[in-house]
Amino acid sequence: MNAVVNDFRSDTVTRPSAQMRQVMSAAEVGDDVYGEDLLTAQLESELAARMGKEAGLFVPSGTQSNLLALMSHCARGDEYIAGQDAHCYQFEAGGGAVLGSIQPQPVPNQPDGTLAIADIEAVIKVDDIHFARSKLLALENTIGGRVLPEGYVQKAVAVARDHGLCTHLDGARIFNAAVAQGVAVRQLAEPFDSVSVCLSKGLGAPIGSVLVGSEALIGKARRLRKMVGGGMRQTGILAAAGLYALEHNVDRLAEDHANAAALAAGLAKFDALTIVMAETNMVWVEANPSIAKDFAKFLRDHKILVHGRYDGGRQRWVTHLDVDAAAVEQALHVVGQFFNYA
Ligand SMILES: *Cc1c(COP(=O)(O)O)cnc(C)c1O
Repeated sequence: MNAVVNDFRSDTVTRPSAQMRQVMSAAEVGDDVYGEDLLTAQLESELAARMGKEAGLFVPSGTQSNLLALMSHCARGDEYIAGQDAHCYQFEAGGGAVLGSIQPQPVPNQPDGTLAIADIEAVIKVDDIHFARSKLLALENTIGGRVLPEGYVQKAVAVARDHGLCTHLDGARIFNAAVAQGVAVRQLAEPFDSVSVCLSKGLGAPIGSVLVGSEALIGKARRLRKMVGGGMRQTGILAAAGLYALEHNVDRLAEDHANAAALAAGLAKFDALTIVMAETNMVWVEANPSIAKDFAKFLRDHKILVHGRYDGGRQRWVTHLDVDAAAVEQALHVVGQFFNYA
């Protein structure tokens, strides 16, 4: 085990608990490329059912899940519309363009994370030999920790459908959104043709995402998964972790949200820190330039890890299952020491 640190960089750092490791070690396995790993099939159908879709596909990462969604919805020369800040546009090495020959059409994200409906409409192209074919609208929920307003999703999806576009939701943290809003995850997934969900973030599994959608779409994605090298063998040990996470680690996301709120409230007390945004399990903090670098170093020296710009100005703190209320309190104590409060 690593030295004990309070690691607020991301909810991806969560490690499988002793109980999760137990179900993993006891898992019955088969060869999933042959369709013989029963736990993987169970995980796929469990998530499909929860999301109200026909089928699911277990994949190694959220990046691959989004890539397979883009490539299943779009052909070469098609175009997908996504937020300028969307993970599938910004943080996936341009996979849709590189591997799928799918042109991204980014649109600015508004402060609340949405894409303005007028902006979406403005970039949907008519059928003309000059243009790429507009094919897909991809949204993200939560985005940077923010939950998309529900009325908004209906409107955005309706515009896409009116123009004959398919829709994909990058729901890496869709369970955070559902818990924060007190709605079933199915309700948030319902408007979309496909949804990608991460098991390896706040849900605490070590590896894995699941893409859900229609039988036809998932059939395509299954072939593409093989093509990009994502066909895996005895995945039952990972599916067991995923099933455990769905059973035990969904409702408790509310604790992460409460911890993030407490963290934001605590950090807001210091004049040199400005809370830019605090929602679900993420807190974005702007540190005054006069202290930013020293503050970032002080946190590191006290084994408190956060995501930060190189100059320490903008920080992202993420709460998750491996940083409890006591860790938040301790972190706030260290922050207080920096500002000579404690
Ligand atoms: C983490 C994340 C992904 C995928 O991440 P992987 O590290 O590839 O599993 C996709 N979308 C969003 C919004 C994410 O936060």
